[in-house]
Amino acid sequence: MILMKDIVREGKQVLKDKATEVTIPLSIEDKNTIIEMMNYLYNSCDDEIAEKYGLRAGVGLAAPQIGVSKRMFVMAAYDEKGHYFEMAIINPKIVSYSDELTYLPGGEGCLSVDREVKGLIHRPKKIRVQGYVYDFEKNEAVLKTIVLKGYLAVVFGHEFDHLNGILFVDRVNKENPFFVPENSKPIKFKD
Ligand code: ZN
Repeated sequence: MILMKDIVREGKQVLKDKATEVTIPLSIEDKNTIIEMMNYLYNSCDDEIAEKYGLRAGVGLAAPQIGVSKRMFVMAAYDEKGHYFEMAIINPKIVSYSDELTYLPGGEGCLSVDREVKGLIHRPKKIRVQGYVYDFEKNEAVLKTIVLKGYLAVVFGHEFDHLNGILFVDRVNKENPFFVPENSKPIKFKD
């Protein structure tokens, strides 16, 4: 079980490195890493388990964040309309993205960043991605193309950055952290 002590924090080299491609078909070790990472997200959002183990809630976790420099990550989140989406993806690519940007009005957070960071991160509002999506029932990775919008596109963008050694703090505009470009609109969650 992945605990907070297993999560690599800001400043460590593995979070700055470009992660390497994963061999397909997946090795048993890589499959286990994916399952463990997804379990972290489930556990971190279960009040009882999270409290018992002191887990910080997360909607995404990338392999470099547990010290594994490989191109894979998991995400599990409710979109702005309240629909649940989860995915474990290996060797992801962003095939195309919209010119329109979006951002979380409260900024982003990261399990690898303990301090509070003020500022906005603008990411494409819509992305078309390709990669090997792990099927937890069939226990295999299948090549897929998926379109993600809004909050899910933001979560994907954040996790994808981890595979390239980029933290959200690196994307905050240093001179003007709350600058909003004309083509960027905030994400609005349904109450
Ligand atoms: Zn992160």
